[in-house]
Amino acid sequence: MPNRGLLIVISGPSGVGKGTVRERLMDDPSLHLVYSVSYTTRDMRPGEKDGVDYRFVDEKTFQEMVQSGGFLEHTNFVRHNYGTPKKEVFAALEEGKNVILEIEVNGAHQVMKKCAGERLLTIFILPPSKEELIARLEGRDTEDPAIINARLRKAERELEMAKDYDYRIVNDELDGAVAEIASIIRSRLVN
Ligand code: ADP
Ligand code: 5GP
Repeated sequence: MPNRGLLIVISGPSGVGKGTVRERLMDDPSLHLVYSVSYTTRDMRPGEKDGVDYRFVDEKTFQEMVQSGGFLEHTNFVRHNYGTPKKEVFAALEEGKNVILEIEVNGAHQVMKKCAGERLLTIFILPPSKEELIARLEGRDTEDPAIINARLRKAERELEMAKDYDYRIVNDELDGAVAEIASIIRSRLVN
């Protein structure tokens, strides 16, 4: 039987660089990471792929999954629903894989409660400054200004939750932030 894998929760305000950091971490085979692909009701962005970035579903399908207890956690974030599929996460952990959840703070709190008995690592990614966060979110050019503003308002409250996580890492220079997080993950792996 392999050792049960590590459940890794990564949160941080929209545009801070979670997806970018996560993709870089996944490139390191020594970390044995798998990414939990969430369900969402939001529209696909250009370049995103169904089943890879998210499972893009309609509201009815999402609510059916809620009713059947299919989510480990789920929440509404700026007008859309997001949820982590429960069965797949636990199956991967059982196989000894280290599973990354890239989720917002409300969902992360649900995971902290429900998975208290799991090997759990929680990391909050901080922006170097508010100005830089705005620049990254606008620079990504994937949301219209009203949504960007709503996401920035949400960021204020999310940053207050950073204290609830095991680690807080500033994503200033990308290579440095990735190396720091990789080293934290490595320190928690069982040989
Ligand atoms: P999130 O997943 O947190 O919403 P993204 O990974 O989509 O954020 O990153 C938002 C934007 O910021 C992207 O255009 C990305 O290329 C850029 N970015 C990410 N990390 C850095 C960094 N360390 N320095 C400068 N730009 C960054
Ligand atoms: P985006 O629309 O930018 O892809 O994601 C918006 C926010 O929802 C981000 O903070 C992202 O981490 C979070 N998110 C993505 N998937 C899930 C999920 O399954 N559950 C929760 N709670 N948040 C998620």
